Amino acid sequence: MTARRIDGKAAAAELRARVGGLAAFFRASTGRPAALATVLVGEDPASEVYIRSKRSGCSEAGMESLHHALPAETSEADLLALVASLNADPAVDGILVQLPLPPHMDAARVIAAIDPDKDVDGFHVVNAGRLAVGDPAALVPCTPLGCLHLLKAELGDLSGKHAVVIGRSNIVGKPMAMLLLAESCTVTIAHSRTHDLPALAREADILVAAVGRPEMVRGDWVKPGATVIDVGINRVAGTEPGKTRLVGDVAFAEAAEVAAAITPVPGGVGPMTIAMLLRNTLVAAHRRAGMAAPE
Ligand code: NDP
Repeated sequence: MTARRIDGKAAAAELRARVGGLAAFFRASTGRPAALATVLVGEDPASEVYIRSKRSGCSEAGMESLHHALPAETSEADLLALVASLNADPAVDGILVQLPLPPHMDAARVIAAIDPDKDVDGFHVVNAGRLAVGDPAALVPCTPLGCLHLLKAELGDLSGKHAVVIGRSNIVGKPMAMLLLAESCTVTIAHSRTHDLPALAREADILVAAVGRPEMVRGDWVKPGATVIDVGINRVAGTEPGKTRLVGDVAFAEAAEVAAAITPVPGGVGPMTIAMLLRNTLVAAHRRAGMAAPE
């Protein structure tokens, strides 16, 4: 391996410590903690794990975590009523409705019901629009925000670099592309219909893979000296029977022979996502309290 391994765990720990300090300052200034309300509908085991980590991250950072667990058969109208009450609650700064929702619910309608200024996941169309037009009031989706944080820590000024983002989802690929554009990168967005993706990827100074296909990006897709950000989290069969392991969208060992720096999976982008959720909650709390939001 020649590439530098970008340590997302360490970067996330640093960010969480900083958020903790700022959360204490917020509490001292306003007399109340910054608070995140999480909503989980049903009992999806993966969602339960995510919610537990988000809640414990909040508590560790000195923020309040208010949780609402609803049965899977909850009607969409009841969920929308809960969202409305959280929107109206002055003690709630951030609202996170864990996805996916049960099939009888329309996730887009539920997200659209969240107050954009409490939308700490950054999924509301108003926040997507704010990000697209460069409005600093945008709350930006946590995973791409975490990727950008790692890239800036690694490379400093990103201006003029050619960034290729593989994936165009609303939660990762598109906001990632917008953030890189705002940093004055030349951005190419690739997807399942892109022709000759390996050749395109080889042009990238910054290569972001957010696809959901285990180890799709091979070593010979990477330009020598590129910085590679692997967003993918894929569970595949392990070497021992019955065991599984996590891999990214990038064939790590191969890519690390060519890249200058690369995020591992696990331990790269993943830990940054919750750290950015805590940061977004704190930013929302500051804005709601009329205070200057921290960087
Ligand atoms: P989606 O399934 O919503 O989007 C995947 C994107 O990849 C689509 O735009 C799709 O193109 C594109 N794609 C699929 N196959 C190919 C292909 N063969 N060649 C080129 N492009 C392709 O996924 P998400 O954006 O939600 O997530 C992407 C990955 O990131 C997943 O592994 C997910 O688990 C992970 N993830 C990790 C997070 C973290 O915290 N680290 C958070 C969120 C996601 P098209 O639009 O044409 O179909």
